[in-house]
Amino acid sequence: QFEVYFQPIVDLTGERCTKAEALVRWQHPTRGLVGPDEFIAIAEEIGLIGALGDWVFHQAVAMAGEWREGRRAAGIGDDAPIQVSVNISPRQFIAGTCADWVGHLRRRGLPPWMLAVEITEGLLLDERPAVTDTLLAFRDAGIQVSIDDFGTGYSAMSYLKKFAVDTLKIDRSFVRDLTTDPSDLAIAEAVIVMAHKLGLKVVAEGVETAAQRDLLRQAGCDYAQGYLFARPLAADDFRRFIASPAR
Ligand code: C2E
Ligand code: CA
Ligand code: CA
Repeated sequence: QFEVYFQPIVDLTGERCTKAEALVRWQHPTRGLVGPDEFIAIAEEIGLIGALGDWVFHQAVAMAGEWREGRRAAGIGDDAPIQVSVNISPRQFIAGTCADWVGHLRRRGLPPWMLAVEITEGLLLDERPAVTDTLLAFRDAGIQVSIDDFGTGYSAMSYLKKFAVDTLKIDRSFVRDLTTDPSDLAIAEAVIVMAHKLGLKVVAEGVETAAQRDLLRQAGCDYAQGYLFARPLAADDFRRFIASPAR
């Protein structure tokens, strides 16, 4: 009953879709479509998050492989494959199920940079070997690491360097009032400047209006994700989305 949806992440210089975030859904037989906010915490509690997260990863990688083949067949070539990002909750590191993700990519012949993992900033402070070893293994393998909901948790800036983080995702709560609240704009601008000085890319989350997009573009933000561009899409709809000439 689970299904993985994909939300486009667009490059703000040309508004092409170059990345997608995998977001799990539960197609419940009687309740209809149930969102992850309603069941991820329960899956964590009852010890199922490892298996669920692993399943999402395998689905996401299978789709990324298909899109790549599709683009090759269409003669678009391999110069612009879509990078897929997968959310990992802290409990998954402890469960140890993501330890073999690097091996799985290798066996499928997919380049490691086609996968990004999204973690929250607090995880970088967790010193348990199951966390640090896996993060360092991702880094060594060339898998990208993104910090989700950046600015809402506890951060240690030095850890952004230590774990070779690639991308910061500015939380939706700073984007929402960007056009009306000068302090939100100041925070977004400061995050973008800091990230760029550290050599990191920035994705703005929850972009819903053209005015928000324009401010973010002016501030030098690299990528944006949000309803303005597309909602999370079922795999077939996502395939159509990236096949349209403008994408
Ligand atoms: P998240 O990682 O911050 O994902 C972004 C959420 O914002 C998604 O909610 C997405 O649908 C929503 N969103 C995107 N653009 C907009 C917008 O323009 N406006 C508004 N209002 N919302 C927007 P979703 O899909 O309900 O997911 C909620 C959370 O559930 C995710 O937050 C993530 O933390 C978690 N989650 C989803 N899939 C997985 C998964 O496979 N594994 C784990 N561990 N967590 C997951
Ligand atoms: Ca995320
Ligand atoms: Ca987020």
